Amino acid sequence: MAGTSDLTRLTIADAGAGLAAGDFSARELTQAHLDAMAAARDLNAYSAETPDQALAMADASDARRGQGDAQGPLDGIPLAIKDLFCTEGVLSTAGSHILDGFKPTYESTVTQQLWDAGAVMLGKTNMDEFAMGSANVTSHYGPCLNPWKAASGDAAGKDLVPGGSSGGSASAVAANIALGATGTDTGGSIRQPGSFCGIVGMKPTYGRCSRWGIIAFASSLDQAGPLTRTVRDGALMLGAMAGYDPKDSTSVDIPVPDYAAALTGDIRGLRVGIPAEYRMDGTPPEIEALWQQGRDWLRDAGAEIVDISLPHTKYALPTYYIVAPAEASSNLARYDGVRYGLRVEGEDIIDTYEKTRAAGFGPEVKRRIMIGTYVLSAGYYDAYYLQAQRVRTRIADDFRAAWDKCDVILTPTAPSAAFAIGEKMDDPIAMYLNDIFTVPASMAGLPAISVPAGLSADGLPLGLHLIGPAFAEETMLRAADVLETAAEFEGRQ
Ligand code: GLN
Repeated sequence: MAGTSDLTRLTIADAGAGLAAGDFSARELTQAHLDAMAAARDLNAYSAETPDQALAMADASDARRGQGDAQGPLDGIPLAIKDLFCTEGVLSTAGSHILDGFKPTYESTVTQQLWDAGAVMLGKTNMDEFAMGSANVTSHYGPCLNPWKAASGDAAGKDLVPGGSSGGSASAVAANIALGATGTDTGGSIRQPGSFCGIVGMKPTYGRCSRWGIIAFASSLDQAGPLTRTVRDGALMLGAMAGYDPKDSTSVDIPVPDYAAALTGDIRGLRVGIPAEYRMDGTPPEIEALWQQGRDWLRDAGAEIVDISLPHTKYALPTYYIVAPAEASSNLARYDGVRYGLRVEGEDIIDTYEKTRAAGFGPEVKRRIMIGTYVLSAGYYDAYYLQAQRVRTRIADDFRAAWDKCDVILTPTAPSAAFAIGEKMDDPIAMYLNDIFTVPASMAGLPAISVPAGLSADGLPLGLHLIGPAFAEETMLRAADVLETAAEFEGRQ
C-alpha cells in the first residue's frame, strides 16, 4: 500500500482507479486525509471537520465495493464542502456569526447527489461571510490561509489570502487535505480562489446545478461548482453535481453528459476568442504575458485564435455591484433571530431583530445590505436596479454575438496573484476589482473555468480563464484540458 501522504496527493481519477484496483480502501484514503487535516489546522481551511461521518461514509463505500456495487468514479472519494451548502445535522453557517449553531434538517441537492455517488464528506470549509468577498477575510471564523508562500517580492514570507469567497475549499484542495471540494461562484468565487491557489475552479452554466439547499447570496447569479487539482477531476465532480432538480425552478432539465469523455485532447479547428476589452490598464505585464502564452499553447494545439469584442465589459463590475447586493439584501432579510442561529434578545420583537442583525452580520455584509436596500428603494429603483438589469442584458447580448465568431473565450482569471492577508482590507473597491475578469461571465450566466497556467515572478500561481456558451461545458473542458497539458503546472509539492 502507498504511504498515507501519497494517498492525499492523488488526483480523484487516480484515487478512483486505486480504489477499484483494491490498492487501498476508502477508509485508508479517508483516514490519510483526516490525519493531514489535523496536521494543517493552521491554514484554517475547515470551519467544521466531520471525521465520524467521514469514516462511516468510507466504510459504507468499502462495503458497497466489496459487494460489487461501487457507484462510479466518486465512490469513496473524500471531499470538502463549502459552508454555504446545507448539510443535514452538520453545522452550516455561511461563515457568519448570525448562523451560529445552525444545523439544517435537510441536505442540499448538490451535496446529496455527491453522497449518492458515494463521495465521503471530510468537513465544511471556511469562506467569506455569505460568500461576499475575494480573499476569505470576512469569515466569522477568521481568515483562511493560502498554502502557497511568495518566494520574493513584497509578500515574501507573509501569510497570503487564498482568494474568496470559496477560500477554504481552494486552500484545502491545494494543501492536499481534500481530493476535491465544492464551491459556489456568484461573481468569481470559485475561479479566483482557484487561480490564487494553483488549482482548477469551474463555474458551470447558471441552472446546471441545483441551488436548492445552498444558502442564497444573489439568486440570479449563484452557481455551485467543483474545485479540483486537475481538469479531469473537475469533469468527474461536475458529472455528479449537475442535473435538473424540481426543487429549483431555475435548474435546467437537460441530460448531464459524460464530461470526462469530452477530454479528447483534440481542439483542432476550435475557435478561441480574445476579447479586446479585457486588455485593461494596470494589468501586470506578467499576466498579459501569460495570456499571450495561453493563446500560443492553444494555437499550437490546432485552435484558431480570433479577435472579438465584448463592448459592455467595462459595465460588468459596476452592474454586478448593484444586482448582487440588491438580491442579497432581499435574501438576507430572513435572518432575524427568530428562525435560525444567533438571537440577541431585545425589549420587543423589532429591537430583537435589530440587535440580532447588528451583532450577527459583519461589516462587508452590512455594506451590501445597505447598498442593496438603497438601489431597490422607491425613487432609486429605476435609476439603479432597473438600469443595471438592462445593462446586464447588453452584457449577455455581447457574448451571444461573440459565439458567431468563436467557440470559447480565453482571458486571465484575476488581475493579480494572491496578496498578503490584511491588504485591500480598508478599500472595498480594490477588493471588488479582483473579479474584473470573472464577473462578466457570471452576469451572462455562462460556464467558465480557471486553469493553473504559470507562476508569477514571485513564485505564486496564476490562472487562465476560459468562458463557454451556455451548457457548452464539454467544449470548455476540452480546451481547459489542452491548456492544462501545455502548461505543465506543478502543484505544491
Ligand atoms: N468577490 C465577489 C463578491 O464579493 C464574488 C463573490 C462570489 O462569487 N460569491 O461579491
